[in-house]
Amino acid sequence: MRIGIDFDNTIAGYDTLFATLAEERGLFQNAPHDTPVGKRDLRDALRRRPEGELTWRRLQAEAYGGRMTEAELLDGVDRFIQACGQSGVAVSIVSHKTQHANFASDGTDLRRAALTWMEAHGFFDSAGLNLRRDDVHFENTRAAKVARIAELGCKWFIDDLEEVFSEPGFPITAKAVLYDPHGEDSVGSELLRCRHWDEIGGHVLGPQH
Ligand SMILES: [Mg+2]
Repeated sequence: MRIGIDFDNTIAGYDTLFATLAEERGLFQNAPHDTPVGKRDLRDALRRRPEGELTWRRLQAEAYGGRMTEAELLDGVDRFIQACGQSGVAVSIVSHKTQHANFASDGTDLRRAALTWMEAHGFFDSAGLNLRRDDVHFENTRAAKVARIAELGCKWFIDDLEEVFSEPGFPITAKAVLYDPHGEDSVGSELLRCRHWDEIGGHVLGPQH
């Protein structure tokens, strides 16, 4: 069995980093009590401003580029991937990530930044998560991402973005798990949603893993 996992905001967490970047730029210095908490709140708060979309895109380019080293490994994802290895379950990381950000000033290679971060967190160490570089796929579009998930024959796919599962071409043979740590996505859909990686492990690998 092979399972697939998204990368940004599913494996790597950026909430603290985005808060740091917003603070460094003084984006909420006039309204410290309204400072948004978490990536999505920050995005929504910025988008309500004139030019806010541009500000948001520049912050993203920094977080996923030059400041990527400060992203956090989300709690439990390492245990989950190691448990997959012990259970003989193959893991692929499938990420919609272009090589360069449109709004970056420094030309950072975003894929290189992500791989360097994975190396630093032991993703490719035999004593660590024990993945191979070949297990990591970066795609230029969401359509290419779901095509890759289909090609790999993933039996499960875990992502923080609901839109991935509704993208045309998402394989009907793959079971979807929405990683939703803040419980903030729209309710009412049939999607299996989990707030923690340990919960995902229970679904994918069984309660005894
Ligand atoms: Mg994501």
